[in-house]
Amino acid sequence: MNKKSVKDVEVRGKRVLVRVDFNVPLNEQGEITNDKRIKASLPTILYLVREGARVILASHLGRPKGQVNPKYSLAPVAKHLSNLLAQEVVFAKDCIGDSAMEPVSKLQDGQVLLLENVRFHGEEEKNDPSFARELAGLAELFVNDAFGTAHRAHASTEGVTHYIPAVCGLLMQKEVEFMGNALERPERPFVAIIGGAKVSDKIGVIENLLEKVDALIIGGGMANTFLKAQGYNVGKSLLEEEKVELAKQLIEKAKSKGVELELPIDVVAATAFQADAAHRTVRVSEIREEEMALDIGAATAEKFEACISTARTVIWNGPMGVFEMEAFAKGTEKVAQAVAACGGITIVGGGDSVAAVEKMKVGERMTHISTGGGASLEFLEGKILPGVAALEEA
Ligand code: ADP
Ligand code: MG
Repeated sequence: MNKKSVKDVEVRGKRVLVRVDFNVPLNEQGEITNDKRIKASLPTILYLVREGARVILASHLGRPKGQVNPKYSLAPVAKHLSNLLAQEVVFAKDCIGDSAMEPVSKLQDGQVLLLENVRFHGEEEKNDPSFARELAGLAELFVNDAFGTAHRAHASTEGVTHYIPAVCGLLMQKEVEFMGNALERPERPFVAIIGGAKVSDKIGVIENLLEKVDALIIGGGMANTFLKAQGYNVGKSLLEEEKVELAKQLIEKAKSKGVELELPIDVVAATAFQADAAHRTVRVSEIREEEMALDIGAATAEKFEACISTARTVIWNGPMGVFEMEAFAKGTEKVAQAVAACGGITIVGGGDSVAAVEKMKVGERMTHISTGGGASLEFLEGKILPGVAALEEA
């Protein structure tokens, strides 16, 4: 990556504003139900602590819509982080103004402070310059480690970079390097697996990947639109009728680029979108009018596995079926196992795909699991993420 990282600059004794992604799920009692995003930012925080920086953390949590709302307070995160770091984390009741300035001015080298939710101010998402200047005024250096929000030009991701030097954090660097290298300098064969519910969510991704991969596997609900494009009847399956033409064009494009396009040859068809629905595995030519395809079939899984087993680089985004229901999780499970076992560089992105991989306990065996859903999609589309673009060149 051609961006400066936190390791390329002097941080000792400096006030360093770090944008992290602490947008964690909370339950009704306000307890954190999954802390993986907090843990993902520890390498950068610990590095700064050890180097003697004065660490000022900023994040959003949920969608408070520019209003102060205790439900979306980062106070529980400060407590949790303090346990993880085994040191005090000062909590500032606001991210700007005296409530922020005062505790920040008291920070000693190696101390950590967390600012209250930046989205309590409507100016954050509007990327308001004077709000960004106030935030930036807290520090002498900005570190962006929030890959999950890098696709948004907000005051705390992009705005602040206009006022103080800005570099990337260690998580951000890892995300951008893994995905960037896979896309730009993949070890071949390079196989992409795209699934999930809708073609319309991922057209840009499919188009961009067709320029780069050796093989493209398409499963999940979006495969139905491609099956329809091939002339099959998909019954009551999830289908985007208005995208059938586009699917035809993508099939043609794959052919003309010499990209091997792998589509389902059989599916698990059910009579209802229900965990206990009657279901059977059928060839794609035999889906009945009253049936819906909710998973790839065993023959398809085998075909996909064979393709994946040859790969030296795999990028996977989108489950192969309705994996949330046991009866329709096998396709995703088999693909997950095949990716984990292929021996190449393996990258998984997308909120539901990551959840599936974790549920199936193969996360540890992947080279990289992206922490950013929307951001990873935009990255795979070949878009420049504004939060990354704004950082200093190395
Ligand atoms: P990601 O979050 O990994 O990018 P998506 O959000 O695009 O993935 O898609 C995930 C959703 O797609 C899951 O909730 C899954 O149940 C659904 N899905 C997968 N296959 C099908 C299918 N055949 N029919 C309907 N929904 C499906
Ligand atoms: Mg999703």
